[in-house]
Amino acid sequence: MHPSEKEFADLLDYYQINYLYEPRSFPLRWDGSRVVEMFTPDFYLPEYDQYFELTTMKQNLVTQKNRKLRRVREMYPEVNVQLLYRKDLMRLMGKYGFGPLSGVSVEGTERVLFDEALVQRRVRELGAQITEDYAGEEPVLIGVLRGVVVFMADLMRAVDLPVQVEFMEITHYGEERQESLDVIRDVTTDLSGRHALVVEDIADTGLTLRYLREHLQAKGPASLRVCALLDKSVRRMTNVRLDYVGFEIPDEFVIGYGLDYGGRYRNLPYIGVLQPLEPKAVAQR
Ligand code: 5GP
Repeated sequence: MHPSEKEFADLLDYYQINYLYEPRSFPLRWDGSRVVEMFTPDFYLPEYDQYFELTTMKQNLVTQKNRKLRRVREMYPEVNVQLLYRKDLMRLMGKYGFGPLSGVSVEGTERVLFDEALVQRRVRELGAQITEDYAGEEPVLIGVLRGVVVFMADLMRAVDLPVQVEFMEITHYGEERQESLDVIRDVTTDLSGRHALVVEDIADTGLTLRYLREHLQAKGPASLRVCALLDKSVRRMTNVRLDYVGFEIPDEFVIGYGLDYGGRYRNLPYIGVLQPLEPKAVAQR
């Protein structure tokens, strides 16, 4: 009946959750034997014995609906009904990075670039490619903390070979990232004669990767390659070779799937563009 109901239904379908649409009406008031008021929740999820009523309406109508819902709960205490506001629905959609709805705005995300399913699929493809290319070897995957943790966790499980996993940490000095880099945590595995694969969340200017390459090359690996989930190649300032790339992205600041803004948003399951702060919000800071 309503686009939001369609969105919710699509989400349930996608996750193969059974539901019934408006299967039951609850009489609330009678005039003699005639029912004059009733409540028909939008969805029923039989496996969870849970009704859902979606509301996207104006506040005064929401108040009315809330009153009805209170009455249902009083009269039918065994019935579980949950009201979902528009923002609840948006959060659900954002959380699951749902395909056709991936353009919806959720707090912090202006729009979803790659939803969860797409990211997972691409990471599996990268894993399969790496498995093929390193067949018979035991590569050392080297991640740079902290943005890479989510990607690394998924990628290493998509590689069907014995692997070792290492993490490095580096700091950037100065205002501009390119000014100076330093390793604060180095790999502990002896890389000489080993096949090293640097795993990065994003290649932006490429300066971090160039530095890493030089640093790791000095340890005498048999081979040294780079796998970057995201490639913002328009910003490249140095010619650094990327052997595996998940997605090309435009010149926008992205968050999610390990990538942060001010330490937040790393746990989003999708990759999205950061919502620029509204002027009002900036003024309040
Ligand atoms: P580069 O040395 O290639 O300029 O910098 C790469 C690092 O910059 C990444 O590992 C990441 O930490 C950070 N970075 C670059 N672009 C973005 C972005 O769009 N979003 C986030 N969250 N981090 C970024």
